[in-house]
Amino acid sequence: MFDPRQDCVTPLDDRACAHRARLGCSWIAEGDGGLCLSCATTQLEPHLSADDAPALWEKAEAAKRWALVGLLRLGWFVGPDAPLPVFHMLSEKVDGARQSVMMGHQDGLITLNIMEADPARAQARKQRFAEPLRTMVGHVRHELAHFLFDRLAQTQPDFAPAFRALMGDERDDYATAMAAYYENGPADGWQDTHISAYATAHPHEDWAETAANALHLLDLSHSAQALNLGLAGDSALDQAQTVGVMLNHFCRSLGQPDPYPMIISPGVHDKLSFALGYLDCRGSAV
Ligand SMILES: [Zn+2]
Ligand SMILES: [Zn+2]
Repeated sequence: MFDPRQDCVTPLDDRACAHRARLGCSWIAEGDGGLCLSCATTQLEPHLSADDAPALWEKAEAAKRWALVGLLRLGWFVGPDAPLPVFHMLSEKVDGARQSVMMGHQDGLITLNIMEADPARAQARKQRFAEPLRTMVGHVRHELAHFLFDRLAQTQPDFAPAFRALMGDERDDYATAMAAYYENGPADGWQDTHISAYATAHPHEDWAETAANALHLLDLSHSAQALNLGLAGDSALDQAQTVGVMLNHFCRSLGQPDPYPMIISPGVHDKLSFALGYLDCRGSAV
């Protein structure tokens, strides 16, 4: 079993999360409900009528745990005044019919589509939306980033002004900006300033895309450290970029697509550094 608050593995005992058998959850329970920190955040469970829904929910919950433990290591969700988001884990398939699931974050509620955990669907949507990196853990990190934005804006007085100076004013009308993005697409040369085309849609999406990628890269750098890989670069970000390039080359050797296909231009590097500075909140109360 895994204790996410102590960041360590413990022998299996009666503290196992109540979703261990049902969802393959490996975390220890906390609180009164018998659920672990992550399973307890699932406020709404998906409709499981589709044959593949139980397995995809299990994969989606695993991605949520992975994203949450990364944030716990950065000092998030520690202490009584540090709230966790709640999740609605929904399925697009209900009783043989397809229902639309809009993933997003609103006031601490994150909605996820468990069908995105299906590799075939993810691949098809990757091509349809021209998103080279589309993963379940990426979706979770993107939506968590919106939640963290609100926490940073509430708790760190210097965050909002610094954010606006770098990424724009998040108070710009969201619906208007999104309509313009879907009508016109990203501006030419967006790679100089944004991590993804979608990040150009609105400053909130720039933050969420940038922060999700910062968390991906930090995770890469931690994995490299755990494997004792000596890497060039002073910062975690630079070391992670090195790992990303290595991974891409390894996979090209095997005829596989680049696992980290993002372009990190100098302008994007500045935004990733900014995001990492605020995402690492060990020592500050958020
Ligand atoms: Zn659990
Ligand atoms: Zn978003």
